[in-house]
Amino acid sequence: MEANLSGVVRMKVSKRAQAVPPSATMAVASRARELKAEGVDVVSFGAGEPDFDTPEYIKKAAVEALEQGRTKYTATPGIPELRQAISDKLRKENGLEYKPEQIIVTIGAKHAVYESMQAVLDAGDEVILPTPYWVTYPETIKLAGAVAKIVETDKANGYKITPTQLEAAISDKTVLLLLNSPNNPGGFAYSPDELSALAKVLEGTDVCVLSDEIYERLVYGGTKFVSFASLSEDAYSRTLTINGLSKAFAMTGWRLGYTAGPLEAIKAMGRLQSHMTQNAVAFGQYAAIAALADPDNEVERMRGEFEKRGKFMAERLNAIEGVECAEPTGAFYCFPDVSSHYGRNINGTDITGSMDFAKGLLEQASVALVPGKPFGCDRNVRLSFACSLEQITKGLDRIEQWLSQ
Ligand code: PMP
Repeated sequence: MEANLSGVVRMKVSKRAQAVPPSATMAVASRARELKAEGVDVVSFGAGEPDFDTPEYIKKAAVEALEQGRTKYTATPGIPELRQAISDKLRKENGLEYKPEQIIVTIGAKHAVYESMQAVLDAGDEVILPTPYWVTYPETIKLAGAVAKIVETDKANGYKITPTQLEAAISDKTVLLLLNSPNNPGGFAYSPDELSALAKVLEGTDVCVLSDEIYERLVYGGTKFVSFASLSEDAYSRTLTINGLSKAFAMTGWRLGYTAGPLEAIKAMGRLQSHMTQNAVAFGQYAAIAALADPDNEVERMRGEFEKRGKFMAERLNAIEGVECAEPTGAFYCFPDVSSHYGRNINGTDITGSMDFAKGLLEQASVALVPGKPFGCDRNVRLSFACSLEQITKGLDRIEQWLSQ
């Protein structure tokens, strides 16, 4: 054990923890916050969370639960009423039959992803991870001792993995395919036919699927969302379905997510959770039951707003010289290809890739967005449209001006 000069022990940091970089999305957000604190008028497209406040009826349910003394430990996988409410939701909205025992409530979907992987992966197992991917996936795969087999997608296929690519990526070590539709950071959703074609490739293999459906309610332009597990009995038996309340219900700070899947895997997650976090916040679980009922169609109201903003943002981006952006069909992100500007020098900053692009834009034009590199797509950058139309206009004016120098 090393000691520092004052004789005080310097605590060792594990190799496991040293190998984990901080979240790239959080890094941009924190630099933007610093600049704001210095008085800079930053337009932020960095956030991966709705700008709306949590609907009033959900807050009320939490207050009531607090007043009723719902302040104690709950059962590890969640209170029975919430697991039943999630089971009902999955049946009604997704055509999925999961018994409450097949559902575990977690501390956000991020925790659900981590715990699911801890439950099913062993050292050396392979996880097929198509680009662009949410930054947390490669790290959670690594933390489970497994290996991410990254499959690069391309613009021509809408950045989606094709059946041929999937087939080629499967080895005798493959345990999981990671699917995230609608996608962060891509802002696209797989069509039911595209998902069915992937499901067909998996038939007859032992490959399971982790389907992260956190953005399911946020689809646009007539896109129809389909849960992977609902495609067939075969797909159902090999899938862990992950979801949560953060995005659809504007509840990011409440930390409520869940996994539904085969009983043995859910039980394994429960054993892990009983030693890690125990249970999601007790009164929050009661609020989640209220949220899922969505009596005033608040989710649809927010979805409609996002759709308008996404369309507008994509139009503005496409009008900028050298920027190419597909209209988002899901989530709340535009993911334009800005690589035609690479190789330029803008105001003394060499733009060699998405990291320089994001840094230059933030420092010189006070617009925060997220570089595509940590998502596995260095040609692109991610802009969240979970902000007002005024902010989008102001930010896009600045980007246009910055790039036209
Ligand atoms: N999955 C994806 C694809 C996400 O983008 C996020 C949030 N950025 C999450 C899961 C985690 O959501 P939460 O932990 O807030 O439920």
